[in-house]
Parts: sequence; C-alpha cells; structure tokens
Amino acid sequence: MLKWIDIVKFANKGNPTPDRRVEKTEDEWRSILMPEVFRITRLKGTERANSSAMCSLFEPGKYACACCDTELFDSGEKFDSGTGWPSFTQPIEENAVAYHKDRSHGMSRMEALCNTCDAHLGHVFLDGPMPSGLRYCINALAMKKVHSDEQKATFGGGCFWCTEAIFQQLKGVTKVKSGYSGGAIVNPTYREVCSGMTGHAEVVEVTYDPKLISYEDLLKIHLTTHNPTTLNRQGGDRGTQYRSIIFYRNDAEKATAIKATAIVQGAYDQLLVTELKPFQAFFAAEGKHQNYYNDNSEGRYCQAVINPKLKKFKALYQDKLK
Ligand code: FE
Repeated sequence: MLKWIDIVKFANKGNPTPDRRVEKTEDEWRSILMPEVFRITRLKGTERANSSAMCSLFEPGKYACACCDTELFDSGEKFDSGTGWPSFTQPIEENAVAYHKDRSHGMSRMEALCNTCDAHLGHVFLDGPMPSGLRYCINALAMKKVHSDEQKATFGGGCFWCTEAIFQQLKGVTKVKSGYSGGAIVNPTYREVCSGMTGHAEVVEVTYDPKLISYEDLLKIHLTTHNPTTLNRQGGDRGTQYRSIIFYRNDAEKATAIKATAIVQGAYDQLLVTELKPFQAFFAAEGKHQNYYNDNSEGRYCQAVINPKLKKFKALYQDKLK
C-alpha cells in the first residue's frame, strides 16, 4: 500500500517503471481526444467541481486512463471526499500512477499522472482516509469507467506460498496476491509478521469472476486444501500468522462462509477452528513472495510441502482447473 512517504520518494527519485509506455505527439493526442479531455489530460487543465456524476458513483468496476486505456483505479478504493472530484485512496497498481511536484498557480502540490502516457490526472493529497491516508483527487474526464464483474476474496490457511499456488490454478481466478491481513499495523514486512506480534495472518487476495467460480466454491476449496482444524498451526508452520481465517466483505459473504464451513465440517473429525472476520485491509507481501511456487518450483519447500498439497487439490477439483 502506498503512503505519502512513497509518493514523495517517487517524485524525488524517479517513478516506478510502468508495464508499458504509450507516446504520441500533442497533435496526435488532439486528433483523438475530445477537446475538454485534451485540455485536462494534455494541457494540465482542471474540470469544474461537481461537474461529473462520476463523483457519486461507487458501483464495482475499474477506472482507466481516458487517453491510453491503462487501468488506474479500482472502485474498491473510491470514496466520497465531498470535494466535487472523484477521489481514491490508492491506485490499482503501485506503478499505474506517476508523481511530479507541481508548483504552478503559486501552490505546492503533488501532481498525479498516468504512468503509461503522462496524461495529467489530478493531484494527490495527504488528507485521505486511513490506512493509506492518501486522497487522489482526479478529474472525471481523465478517466473512463470500465465495467468489471470481478470480485476479491481474502483467505488465510498457513504459508501463503501454498495457498497462492492452489488458487492460481483455478478457472475463473484472474489474479492471486500474497500478503497480510487481520492485524494492527500498516504495511508490515514479512519479518514483522513472522514475529507473530503484528496480529496479521499470511493470506492470499484472490481476484475472481463470479460468473466462472462462486464465492462458495472458493471457500470450500480453501477449507479442504489446508487443515482448518489445527489452531495457529499448519503442519510444521506454527504461530498466529499461520492461522486459518476467512475475511468476508459483506453480510452475504459472511452467511456464505458460515454455510460453507458447516458443509465442510462433515469432512473432518475434529472441529474447524477457522476464524471468520470482516475484511479491513490487505497489504501485499514483498515481491519475492509473489508467484513463489512458479518461480521456485525446484526448491525444497515447494517439492516437500507444496507439491503434495497441489496433488491432493488437483485430484479433488479436476473440473475446476484452468
Ligand atoms: Fe494514460
């Protein structure tokens, strides 16, 4: 999760590398953009406050750059700031937005630009809601709403190297991120979480298309591919960071989780100890922990611990694999 200190670092020392670059001349942009979009994105203009209905829209979906279509923000990070401009607490990816110190109009502000095509988007301020504390104040005309049915689910079931490897193989799952959730501190490190003192669990954030796989199926798969009956322990991994946990995002998910837990209980002799908790925040783990199984499949942990779990999972859920 980006915080103000990261934004300042990017502006001072260089922005993160984008996934791709789109470059056009001013005349080329002028020829393909509506005049008002051109004025805002390429000439650093600002639309009037409250000039767009986008301010009060909070439906699920993503917001892409009006110039180059790169996804910039997710509706999950959108909030009502009351300013008259669409406001977000975080970009969709840490390298989606670039930052530049803006001293125009006698003010000192932090400009937010599309990191792919340099479109001016708006500004970032440090008076946003916690935990990031950031407010991305963005011109509605600098963005296009992209419809998306994708949902996110967050589960913990021991070492995230294992749970990530399992969910990555499911049809309908578009992204899996390893990280931390359920604890008290923002942006914990792996070392801090390993101490068992942060309250965080190792979790995976699963992005999925509910038309292809349901939340209930994800829950059943989660509960049958780790051991949900051992308190604060998963095989040789011991500590609260390895606890079995389900984070729900609304009452419907909570009800589904209670139902799935009851169904799966029948498959175990011991009682399930899986914790059920409202989702608050997810903090991505360090880069070396992402896609761990695929990048380290010859390693000892992958061979000895993850491979047997994957074998069991694949036998159980053949019809749900990619
Ligand atoms: Fe762009």
